[in-house]
Amino acid sequence: MEQVVIIGTGCAGLTAAIYAARSNLKPLVLTGTMPGGLLTTTSIVENYPGFPEGVDGCELMVRMQKQAERFGARVQVLRVVEAADLSKNPFVLTVDGERVETKTVIIATGASHRHLDVPGEHLLERKGVTYCATCDGAWPMFRNQPLVVVGGGDSACEEALYLTRFGAQIHLVHRRDRLRASKIMSGRVLDNPKIKPVWNSVVTEILDPKQDKVTAVRLKNVKTNAETVLPCAGVFVAVGHVPNTRLFKGVLDLDENGYIIPKRGPATNIAGVFVAGDCADHVYRQAITAAGAGCAAAIDAERFLARL
Ligand code: NAP
Repeated sequence: MEQVVIIGTGCAGLTAAIYAARSNLKPLVLTGTMPGGLLTTTSIVENYPGFPEGVDGCELMVRMQKQAERFGARVQVLRVVEAADLSKNPFVLTVDGERVETKTVIIATGASHRHLDVPGEHLLERKGVTYCATCDGAWPMFRNQPLVVVGGGDSACEEALYLTRFGAQIHLVHRRDRLRASKIMSGRVLDNPKIKPVWNSVVTEILDPKQDKVTAVRLKNVKTNAETVLPCAGVFVAVGHVPNTRLFKGVLDLDENGYIIPKRGPATNIAGVFVAGDCADHVYRQAITAAGAGCAAAIDAERFLARL
């Protein structure tokens, strides 16, 4: 019987693991398919307190995991929760076919990249369509080629800036005429001569699945409805995220976009089940807020256990 199982190892899950481990609960921590979470797909994190020069996203997550393990967290890499029976305590999780019983669960499953859902996107994934510039931007097929980044948030700006190292010209396609990104990121993008914003435009198709590679995007100007074809060798999609909460549909209270609705801090509608990080936060979505939520979830899980 586990005291605490933590599902997910982004900033929220690993911070919960540090706190639960330091409370001597020996948490079982399941990474799922993306150990370290979305931060491992970014380059330098410049806004996490304590790192005045910034810190590499992967390095930050490795450090958090080591810190949790130092106090007794049992991190199991690439173990995936396939089902969760939260109908009574102890809860029963099915983890890679194995039954795991636990008195508390901390859900920190994060969010995944949202797709454009346009023709060609799926067929050309990893053949020029990608969701992570820092993971894939250095591929030879992108070198000195025109590239397209889609989105207007901090992620899109970060991707575009990163890609200036490799691409000939970066076209930042955004559906409005103003970036959503923070001022500092917007300024860097708009001041960069290699980045060309394409305002009020959406990608309606990615070409050319027949050639088995990206050759262009079809664009529609949402103001004029004019269609154009923009040649490019790569499409980097950065249009936000969808929460990884499919497992809990119909069991936990979710909002219309699938985010778990917390009750009183990290508690959920089921006593003993807590939530932290991007799977429950569509507002702040920062590494530091996820870490704070993970801390709160672990403290409340410990208090819940003390009352059992
Ligand atoms: P985001 O802030 O939600 O931005 C998503 C962007 O994609 C928006 O510009 C949105 O357009 C656009 N979009 C959404 N759906 C679209 C669609 N179907 N077609 C075309 N465009 C679409 O997401 P994010 O940039 O991934 O950032 C998520 C959070 O992480 C934010 O809180 C951000 O501050 C944070 N973050 C911070 C940093 C940093 O500080 N360096 C880096 C990365 C992320 P609209 O603007 O019209 O809604």
